[in-house]
Amino acid sequence: MASQRKFFVGGNFKMNGSMKLIKEIVDQINAANLDGSTEVIVAPPALYLLQVQEMLKKPVEVSAQNCFTEVSGAFTGEISPNQLKDANVHWVILGHSERRSLFGDTDKLVADKVAAALKADLKIIACIGETLEEREKGVTMQVVERQLDAIAGEVKEADWKDIVIAYEPVWAIGTGKVATVEQAQEVHKDIRQWLSKRVSSAVAESTRIIYGGSVNAKNCGELAGPPDIDGFLVGGASLKPEFLDICKVQH
Ligand code: PGA
Repeated sequence: MASQRKFFVGGNFKMNGSMKLIKEIVDQINAANLDGSTEVIVAPPALYLLQVQEMLKKPVEVSAQNCFTEVSGAFTGEISPNQLKDANVHWVILGHSERRSLFGDTDKLVADKVAAALKADLKIIACIGETLEEREKGVTMQVVERQLDAIAGEVKEADWKDIVIAYEPVWAIGTGKVATVEQAQEVHKDIRQWLSKRVSSAVAESTRIIYGGSVNAKNCGELAGPPDIDGFLVGGASLKPEFLDICKVQH
C-alpha cells in the first residue's frame, strides 16, 4: 500500500462474545503491545463498548457497529451518534452488509447515518460491496458506485479524512471464500479512481480503502500487498488470537 496512508485493521465482533470471552480477547490485544504502526480498532457489541474501551491499552480504540440518524428521542433500541461521542467512542461502522440485508439499511439510510455521525464528529468505517449474484452479472462496480455515491452525497471534501471505506464483497463475508488478491485490488483501484473523479485526487490518494471478507492470519500477508489495499475489516478471525497476526501483518 502507498506509504502516506496508515494501514488500518478493524475487528468486527458482530453479535458474538460474552463478558468472559471479550475480556480474554482484550487481554490478548493488550499483551501484544501493538506499536501503532497499524491503526487498530475493535467493534464489540454495543453492550460491551465501555467495558472494552476501559480495558484496552492505547493505541487500540473501540468502534460501535452501528448508530441511528437522530440525536435523541423516542427510538427504542437505537444509539445516537451523539451518545457515542458523549461516551468517548470515536468510531462507528456503517452500512455493513448484514445491516443492509437483515435490518433494512438502504443506501439512503446509510447515507443519513453517515451524515449524522459526521455531524457528531465520529469517524466512520463505511461498508460497501456486491452480492454473488451481482458479481456474476458483472455489475460489481455499478453496485459499489451506487452505494458510494449515496455516501459521498453527505460528505464534504474536508470530511473524507474521517472516513475509511471497507470493500466487503458479500459473498466473501463469513463464508471462508476470500476474494483473490487480484479481485480485491481491481475493485479497490476502481474505487480510488471513482473517488478521484467524484471528489478529488487528494481525497482519492489519502482515503484508506480496506478489504473485508474471510480475512485470516493465512491470507492477510498476500492481501496486504497490492498498492490500493490499505488494511482489513475482520469478522470471524477478530475473535481469535490470529487477529493479532493480522494486526501485525507486513504492509
Ligand atoms: P468475516 O467478516 O471476516 O467473518 O468474513 C467480515 C465482516 O463482516 O466485516
